[in-house]
Amino acid sequence: VSARDDGVADAIRWTIGGPARPPDGAGDPGLRRRLLGWIVGLIALPISVLPFLAFARFDDTGKLMSLRAERAVKEPPSVTLPASDAAFYAGESAVYGGALVVLVYHGVMDDADREPESEGMVVGTRRFGEHLAMFEAAGFRTVSMEAVAAWQRGSAELPDRALLITFDDGRQDAILNAAPMLKRHGMRATMSVIGGAYEHAPAYHASPRDLRALRTDGWSIEAHAAESHTAIDAGDGRRLPYLAARRYLPAEGRLETLAEFRLRVRRELVAARDAASAIGGGEVVSFTWPFGAYGADSRTNDPALAAITVQEARAVYPLVFNDDGQDGYLPVTRDSDSGRLQRLRVDPTWDARELWNRIQVAVAAGAPTVRDAT
Ligand SMILES: [Zn+2]
Repeated sequence: VSARDDGVADAIRWTIGGPARPPDGAGDPGLRRRLLGWIVGLIALPISVLPFLAFARFDDTGKLMSLRAERAVKEPPSVTLPASDAAFYAGESAVYGGALVVLVYHGVMDDADREPESEGMVVGTRRFGEHLAMFEAAGFRTVSMEAVAAWQRGSAELPDRALLITFDDGRQDAILNAAPMLKRHGMRATMSVIGGAYEHAPAYHASPRDLRALRTDGWSIEAHAAESHTAIDAGDGRRLPYLAARRYLPAEGRLETLAEFRLRVRRELVAARDAASAIGGGEVVSFTWPFGAYGADSRTNDPALAAITVQEARAVYPLVFNDDGQDGYLPVTRDSDSGRLQRLRVDPTWDARELWNRIQVAVAAGAPTVRDAT
């Protein structure tokens, strides 16, 4: 089998669940079984290690498979800040109260710093370690999603310097890299999961069992999607995020009506909640829009949709997070609209100091109480 054979490469990616189009004959379970057998053989036989290494280097799913093998014998790196940096963060970080800074990460991979194709979604493992060391030195306190919901209801307070670290998509590398690194710092995070993702792509996504195990380290398992973390035909040759566009119905030659859109969104939101609850085994109180898209930006074919998506999400979830406001990020307060809570997307190019700067500006502008550390 030649690695240059695109059809075979697609078939492999499809079989182990990577992002590829289904090959011809994809519906044939015999083909799938044969390919799985071939892949198992490829991994098992030393003679085949060379093509596997090539595959591992160039394919995201392959990288996750080799990361899993590496993590079985070696922990993710430990990162310590220079003493002068730690002293700076300890002395200069504002003490804010009545406010919550919300960050979102996706992937954490060892070689992400060198890879422009990660498209802003994957932060390097060492850089992530620097961020965590900065959080600790600066006195941030990571909180659970349940604590945030109780605070928004008015039934509990958050600690000073409250920080909510969120991950979307339930990727393997969050389990293999981020979870043990956070644990070393005594920190927790929230994982927003995609129902059915593991069954569809078990090499790329963490298993429900691994995701549920995060809860023993204080993680929250929340909702991100059911089976719809995808784009749909929005007519006029456009493909747009599932929850942000009216779908084109080719048999009828028309776009779905607003009522049909609303029903589809409602079903998806409930299915996502039920899927996350089944995976995490606990109550689900929050939702994060797939692709951050709910019809409020240019990725829509009808500006009327955002009002519908926000209203429907509010009806299902106490807390709904978007990725709006990247240029003017403000922390969440009790006055924030719980149906439109902003998250700050952590850019993989930001070092610890840059991330710290952005957080300091946000709390200076938006936290109800702010005082100096000294
Ligand atoms: Zn996502």
